[in-house]
Amino acid sequence: MEQEVVIFNASLPLQSEETLYTLAIGGGKWTSVTAQTGEVEAPEAVCLDKWNGSSADARLLLDAKGKIVLPGFVDAHMHLDKAFSLPHVGNVSGTLGEAVVNYAAAAPRFSKAEIKARIMRSALQSISYGTVVLRSHLDFHIKHGKDVAMRTIEAALEVKEELKPYAELQLFPLLPYFELSEAALDTAEESVAMGVTGLGGAPHLSPNPEPDIDRLFALADKLGCPVDLHTDESDDPNQRTAIHIARRAMEYGWRGKVTAGHLCSLAAMKDEDAAMIIGLMAEAGMGAVTLPGANLYLQGRHDAFPVRRGVTRVKELLAAGIPLAAASDNMHDPFHPFGRGDLLLIGLVTAYAAHMGSPAEMREVLRMITEYPARVTGADGYGILPGNPAHFVALDARTPEELLTMLPERRWVWRGGTCLKAAPSKEKWSSALLQGYWEDSCERVDFVQKRALTL
Ligand SMILES: [Zn+2]
Repeated sequence: MEQEVVIFNASLPLQSEETLYTLAIGGGKWTSVTAQTGEVEAPEAVCLDKWNGSSADARLLLDAKGKIVLPGFVDAHMHLDKAFSLPHVGNVSGTLGEAVVNYAAAAPRFSKAEIKARIMRSALQSISYGTVVLRSHLDFHIKHGKDVAMRTIEAALEVKEELKPYAELQLFPLLPYFELSEAALDTAEESVAMGVTGLGGAPHLSPNPEPDIDRLFALADKLGCPVDLHTDESDDPNQRTAIHIARRAMEYGWRGKVTAGHLCSLAAMKDEDAAMIIGLMAEAGMGAVTLPGANLYLQGRHDAFPVRRGVTRVKELLAAGIPLAAASDNMHDPFHPFGRGDLLLIGLVTAYAAHMGSPAEMREVLRMITEYPARVTGADGYGILPGNPAHFVALDARTPEELLTMLPERRWVWRGGTCLKAAPSKEKWSSALLQGYWEDSCERVDFVQKRALTL
């Protein structure tokens, strides 16, 4: 029999910050989400802060004491197969160009077992931080032969299957930009038949992008699958494949099925040109993804001062009503030597890169790693609502301000009403004096706004 769980005093900042909630789970699903009139006294409940994650009781009562509960993070753009490959593939110049060339040269050397281990490690690490949906692009080096392309596809599909009970993995092979040949299209078709989610690519790197985009859309149409393209990842204001992508999306009537990632050139072009492109994308019903960690690192490398930041026009895309996700991109590989799969950290980088620090903007940043990528990825049953699966993460923070300031390590990750990973206990100081100072100062410092504060 599945355990019944009740969580009192939960903060749901995506719903409302005016009140706390009581959340109930039964049969692995949310059974009720009830706004409280104030803080509820729940003496029979275990304090979440002190809970070790296990309980054999048929009914588990937890008191969140105001901690935030989110329906999990959605990482809309990753490269799980490349993660942790930096020790094997360097990038001396730190440019996107060198990363592409070096990784392409190294691709045939990686065995399926190595690739699978990297996907498993990076996916599990992301899940441990509270991510529930992971969309990964996959290396697809058909130039080195079908065997090389298919070993990444097979490794990723195996991990997708093995992790099915724990997270939703979406897979998009990166169709080659240099040779969108019949062989490449046939192999891509085969990989969709095997179970990958949709078609990816980076058409702005092609010497002749428009016919490549047309072929890719034609194949997606035949297979009935979504399209997610690396788009105009360049400081060149004349890189504008987004226009052709938006026009094709409109022609096919694919609202919600086409995603453009990066869009760096939007930040390099004139306001009126960017506004025209953003308008087309909104009209086409496209989703978008910003990858601020990788783009702050990779772009602007050829600039003398002032150096461009490379991050797309975040506020303009949001203002146009385009669901804009902030995502991880690469983790410890030649494209991006940092990153740990923690979307909260990417939220913080987004806030820095896009100048988003007001209370309203911090909440928008939170939506960029939860609700908006859920729309971009079409995640199933997402959200803390009765009837949806009880996938969620509880975090050791009570407000978005505290979340983005503290990036709490202490998180409780749940899947279908079962706790996958509980937070370790709060750190203890070895000195009783320091312990006293710590507890006293924690008591006095509060991230929750005091509305009735008088001086
Ligand atoms: Zn990417």
